[in-house]
Amino acid sequence: MRPYILLTPGPLTTSETVKEAMLSDWCTWDEDYNVGIVEDIRKSLVELAAKRTENYTSVLLQGSGTYCVEAVIGCTIRPNDKLLILSNGAYGNRMGVIADRQGISYDMLAFDETMQVDPETVERYLSRHSDVTHVAFVHCETTTGVLNPLERLAHIVKSYGKVLIVDAMSSFGGVPLDVEELGIDFLISSANKCIQGVPGFGFIIARRSELMRCKGVSRSLSLDLYDQWDAMEKGHGKWRFTSPTHVVRAFKEAMSELQAEGGVEARHDRYCKNHEVLVKGMEKLGFKTLLPAAIQSPVITSFLYPDKDFDFKSFYQKLKAKGFVIYPGKISQADTFRIGNIGDVYPEDFEHLIEAVQACR
Ligand SMILES: *Cc1c(COP(=O)(O)O)cnc(C)c1O
Repeated sequence: MRPYILLTPGPLTTSETVKEAMLSDWCTWDEDYNVGIVEDIRKSLVELAAKRTENYTSVLLQGSGTYCVEAVIGCTIRPNDKLLILSNGAYGNRMGVIADRQGISYDMLAFDETMQVDPETVERYLSRHSDVTHVAFVHCETTTGVLNPLERLAHIVKSYGKVLIVDAMSSFGGVPLDVEELGIDFLISSANKCIQGVPGFGFIIARRSELMRCKGVSRSLSLDLYDQWDAMEKGHGKWRFTSPTHVVRAFKEAMSELQAEGGVEARHDRYCKNHEVLVKGMEKLGFKTLLPAAIQSPVITSFLYPDKDFDFKSFYQKLKAKGFVIYPGKISQADTFRIGNIGDVYPEDFEHLIEAVQACR
C-alpha cells in the first residue's frame, strides 16, 4: 500500500487502519457521523492535555495548523492588549506575520534558530514591559527541531499574570505535558502531527474562562474560535460549516491507536527510540546534527550537509526511490536537511533508512 514512508511532519506516515477509516462517505449532520464522535474527540483531547480537566475545553477548526494559530491570535488579543511573541524559528516568526496582517499590537523577542528561547531574557523583558497582556511561543520549533523549555517559560509567563498561548503543533500527543499544571491558556495543535491523523483540521485546548472572553473579538468569520466552540457546544459536536468528515473519522481512529499504544508516554518513548537509531546511524555515516543533544526534540532532526559538494536534490530522489521521503532544511545560517521521527514509523524503519542512506551517499 505504501510506495514510501513520509519522514516529513507533516503530513506524516499514518497506519493502514487510519487510512481505512476514510473509506466511507459520511453525512455532516447525520447521526451516524455526528452523534458522539466529535464530542468524544473533544473530550479525549482535553483528557490528553490535562489530568484535571474541569477548567478546560476544546475546539476543532477546519484547515491546517496555521488556521488555528491565526484563530487564537485573532480571538484573544483585543485592541488595547499587547502580544509578546518569543521566536526561534519560522513558526514563531509566522505568529508575527499573523499579528501584522491582523493589525495586532505585538513585540517580538527573537532568538537564534539553533538555540532555545531563553527564559532569563523573557523574564527581564516582562519585568520591564507591563503593557504586555499575552505571551505566545512554539513548544517544538519544527524549523530545526529545538525543544523550547516549556516548563520554565510557562512558569515565568504565569508568574507575571499573562495569558499564555503555546503552539504545540508538532509536540502535542508525542511529548508529555499538562496544560493545567503549566498554566497554559490556549494550546494549539493539529490532526496530522503526533496524534498521527491525516491533515484537514486543527484544534485548540482552551481554558474555559479565557475562551469565554473571546466572544465577539474575532474580525474573521470562519476563524472565530468562540463561535466555532459555541456551535459545537450547542449542537453537541456540530461544526459551523462543512466538517472534514473523513478526516474526523480517521482522527478518531488515530486517537484510539494512541491510547492502544500506551498513551503519550509510550509514544514519546517510541519517538525517542526512532530519534536515537537515526542519530547513531547517521553519525556512523559521517553526518552531524545541527543541534546539541540537550536542546534537541525527538520530533524532527536537522542534519548538516556532510560537505560542500553534497547534492540534496539527488540524495532526496535516491532515498525516495528506496522508500523514504525526507525534508529539506528551513534555516538560512547553515545547509541542512531534516528527518522527521514522528508518525506510524518505528525503530526498524530507521534502521532501514540508515542502510538506504549508506547506499545513496
Ligand atoms: C506544522 C506546524 C504548524 C502548522 O503548519 P501548517 O502547515 O499550517 O499545518 C505550526 N507550528 C508548528 C510548530 C508546526 O510544526
